[in-house]
Amino acid sequence: MFEALGVGASAVADAPALASVDAIVIPGGESTAISRLLETSGMLGPLRRRIEEGIPAFGTCAGMILLAGEVLDGRPDQHQLGGIDISVRRNAFGRQVDSFETDLDVKGLDPPFHAVFIRAPIVERAGVGVETLASIEGYDGTRRAVLCRQGCRMVSAFHPELSGDPRLHEMFLTIAFDRDATVGTASRSRTNL
Ligand code: GLN
Repeated sequence: MFEALGVGASAVADAPALASVDAIVIPGGESTAISRLLETSGMLGPLRRRIEEGIPAFGTCAGMILLAGEVLDGRPDQHQLGGIDISVRRNAFGRQVDSFETDLDVKGLDPPFHAVFIRAPIVERAGVGVETLASIEGYDGTRRAVLCRQGCRMVSAFHPELSGDPRLHEMFLTIAFDRDATVGTASRSRTNL
């Protein structure tokens, strides 16, 4: 998705690779497994440091869980990166069979964004500095956030890379690097994720 937007993207698997990027995506998957792998690979400390230092970060689904300050229904030994002031409930919509797709109204986007939720989390609490960009009716009928932003951090409870719609990746680049510019500026193409 980022390469299609003219931005270099590479997999980050060790500390030198982490040191070389200007922004990071924490992808979907399984937050408990990613947490354990961060620990066993020695990447947890370096990643926490880069987040403390202010690296722009986009967390999607499991990545949103990891980036959050607090997790509910997590494993007691699962690590939080603490990059955004939200509390997130894991598997908030149920099991794999309860995964779903929906057209989501997103602040600043028209038409709605087709969002794919796979064993998705939901935001239970968002701190005062956190902007909610989209929300959905949750497991108990209450509307809760599923797309949030705080400074140069963005999180989505769904998988934006599965819809073939680059608008949220574009939004992240705008948030991360050049808030006022339109997508496709020269500064973008020098950027490395
Ligand atoms: N349920 C997963 C978790 O707890 C997240 C699922 C996903 O990333 N699609 O990490």
